[in-house]
Amino acid sequence: MLRRSFSLGCCLLLGLVALPCPAMAEGWKAGAAKQKITPPEPMWMAGYGSRNHASTGFLNDLWAKALVLEDAKGARVAIVTLDLVGIGRDLADPICDQLQKKFDLNRSNVALCCSHTHSGPVVGRNLRTLHYDLVDARQQKLIDRYAEHLREMIVDVVGRAIDALAPSQISWGQGTATFAVNRRNNKEPDVPRLRAEGQLAGPVDHDVPVLKVTDLGRKTTALLIGYACHATVLDGYDWSSDYPGFAQSELEQQNPGCTALFFAGCGADQNPLPRRRVELARQYGHDLAAAVGAALKSQMKPLAGNLAAGFTEIPLDLAKVPTKEEIEQDTKSADRYVAARARLYHDRLSAGQTVPATYSYPVQVWRLGSELVLVTLGGEVVVDYALRIKQDMGPANTWVAGYANDVMAYIPSRRVLTEGGYEGGGAMVYYSLPSPWAPTIEKTILDAVRTTTPPVR
Ligand SMILES: [Zn+2]
Repeated sequence: MLRRSFSLGCCLLLGLVALPCPAMAEGWKAGAAKQKITPPEPMWMAGYGSRNHASTGFLNDLWAKALVLEDAKGARVAIVTLDLVGIGRDLADPICDQLQKKFDLNRSNVALCCSHTHSGPVVGRNLRTLHYDLVDARQQKLIDRYAEHLREMIVDVVGRAIDALAPSQISWGQGTATFAVNRRNNKEPDVPRLRAEGQLAGPVDHDVPVLKVTDLGRKTTALLIGYACHATVLDGYDWSSDYPGFAQSELEQQNPGCTALFFAGCGADQNPLPRRRVELARQYGHDLAAAVGAALKSQMKPLAGNLAAGFTEIPLDLAKVPTKEEIEQDTKSADRYVAARARLYHDRLSAGQTVPATYSYPVQVWRLGSELVLVTLGGEVVVDYALRIKQDMGPANTWVAGYANDVMAYIPSRRVLTEGGYEGGGAMVYYSLPSPWAPTIEKTILDAVRTTTPPVR
């Protein structure tokens, strides 16, 4: 009804000139909301094992933001972006249960995504061996309390985004930002020179996907943006949403009343280099906002058609289940993380449980009209996946993100797994998984992306 009356109004206003009113023709609604989630008190920070005390200060806020989209048939999806290192199943499952119960949102239709800032709090049992198992009882209590509060705040912010649903135009486009550098170059002393000379090693994904939501008065109400790069410019003791936070703030200042939402792409093997200075976090945030600005000035594609959501959990094989003897041996390791992980499995074996041989891995694919496929993968996904999926599905209409729904480990490609190192297997200990992934990982995930992709409705 609204659609028809607005189309009529549009034509009356324009006299007999037949200008297109694409959004009205599609009947989209959108609603956005945001909630500050900066911890109110000092607590343990996530992402680095080298920190030896709780936070001491503040640089810029952390936010949970929600964007809810509804198509002309009333189908809804909700994307939540979090300025946090990651979210695990321990929190994602109860949040999705609540969203189902309160708002009738199916698991397929909810994406919980993260910026992967390394200057936010420990999030429940995420990176368990790196943090939760090694901090004292007081910090564990603070972590548990924050997780409980976070769960409530996320459910609330989605509810407020639903309440804000209003007829909208939605379009999408892409910009480019070049500060993400493959981690192979981490030890290079002069990255800016190598960048200028085109001499940096390893694959990168410099796309900056942008989904723009405007109201019927053409005012921008939400900007959903992504980028494939670790939010690790900063490693100190001040709360900070790092470069994604500065980008979101700049976009919200440029567009009063707009909610800017950032979530990380497949940047597990990508760092912002050089780094470690606040002015660099601000600079990269500005670079990202400028890339969004360029995308907004380009020919954005209006979304036409309907929403369709696919979600599946696949058993992802681990390379080797350690034996009871190997676990017992590891409990005596001089490496405190190896010992902490071994204690976890030792306790589980003692309680009559088994060591898992697979992990239930979430793969989610949404069609946002006929113009855009959004692939959101669990874990810290290396860039090879985004490049491959975009190549397979079409780079002009595919958006691939990681750090979604359950950040349980690094997700190496076959290439990175074979190369070994931190992303290939070393990091598994910090996520408390019992072994590296099996060599089938890349094929299994890519097959699941194909089978999870819903047909055009
Ligand atoms: Zn990471």
